[in-house]
Amino acid sequence: MDQLIRDTYVEINLDNIAYNMKSIKNMVGDGVAIAAVLKADAYGHGALEVAKVVMENGADYIAVATLSEALEIRRRFKDYKILIMGHTPNRLLEHVVANNITQTIFSLEQARLLSQIGLKYGKTPVVHIKYDTGFNRLGFKDKEESIEEIARIAQIKNIYIEGIFSHLALTGDKENEIQYNTLISAIERLRKRGIRFKYMHIEDSIAAVDYPQYRLNMIRPGAIIYGIKGFHYGKLDLKQALTFKSRISHIKKISKGEGVSYDYLWKAERNSIIGTLPVGYADGYPRSLSNKGFVTIHGKKAPIVGLICMDQLMVDLTDIPEAEVGDEVIVYSNGENNTMDLNTMAKLAGTNKNEIISRISRRIPKVYIRNGEVVKIINYIK
Ligand SMILES: *Cc1c(COP(=O)(O)O)cnc(C)c1O
Repeated sequence: MDQLIRDTYVEINLDNIAYNMKSIKNMVGDGVAIAAVLKADAYGHGALEVAKVVMENGADYIAVATLSEALEIRRRFKDYKILIMGHTPNRLLEHVVANNITQTIFSLEQARLLSQIGLKYGKTPVVHIKYDTGFNRLGFKDKEESIEEIARIAQIKNIYIEGIFSHLALTGDKENEIQYNTLISAIERLRKRGIRFKYMHIEDSIAAVDYPQYRLNMIRPGAIIYGIKGFHYGKLDLKQALTFKSRISHIKKISKGEGVSYDYLWKAERNSIIGTLPVGYADGYPRSLSNKGFVTIHGKKAPIVGLICMDQLMVDLTDIPEAEVGDEVIVYSNGENNTMDLNTMAKLAGTNKNEIISRISRRIPKVYIRNGEVVKIINYIK
């Protein structure tokens, strides 16, 4: 841990990520491919380290949101299959082709462009067609002209349509079924025109666990890879990989009536011991947990007092008098041993678990654990 250049960091258990991947693989069986979603720096876990672990443990594809995320992984791993699930503007498609990245498309125009770029590079660009079954985000709108347009794409030389996919809004059982059936109907109509797809997919983490009947032959799990449970009906054994840690930077005694932090939104109702932690909202810790959240020190809960600052926050240590400067703080974890769990935290912050972890800032070093030992540390600067 000598290389760690900050007291605030996230600990990432790579064995847990491997465990979760095996769990997912075991759940879906051999007939369903897994596109492991590593967007947003693998939900704050570090895309490059996670990429290796998921590929070693059953992932068939890596899925990201943006070209920059795809390129980061491609530079390190020359032969991993990478899908960009989002839109790439025309002017950047050249990078997609040059780097053998699979692109999501939903227009004839981009298919033609990719084909031309492919000819220039002597490559056949690979695409997945995005079909909008009601989410109304990206994709071909569900109508006959779209089927016509996809059929025209299939006739373009020098482009390989490897997949077709959609995304569930997860509004309810009924809405999910309608969306799924809409995709199936599109696939059927295309099949009648002789167009077949190697991969068909519509499920994210929650859907893959709760609706096994809609898995088709590929799923796109994100959250569950990291051990984040959002599903309701199904069951899947997972282990959370991430724990957010820090150390006490300062301790002081204050008198009853004194205020803490901006605007004195918290005032001591008794003589108190206040600890300062080098954790702020710029680190991705939600400011909305001011006066609401807690951290764990010596296995005890220490409430956050006053407004959370950009780089620091204060906690009440009055009931943990043994706490000293430098002591370890569990800012959040999986809820065991009196720690704050992501579910509770997300509810308190008025958001979801994915937002909390995906916003962990680059300023937070990552400490990777395998077999109980630190195997790698990534700092803000190299
Ligand atoms: C983010 C994303 C996923 C993964 O979502 P989880 O809920 O984390 O499993 C799957 N598909 C698409 C299109 C996404 O954008």
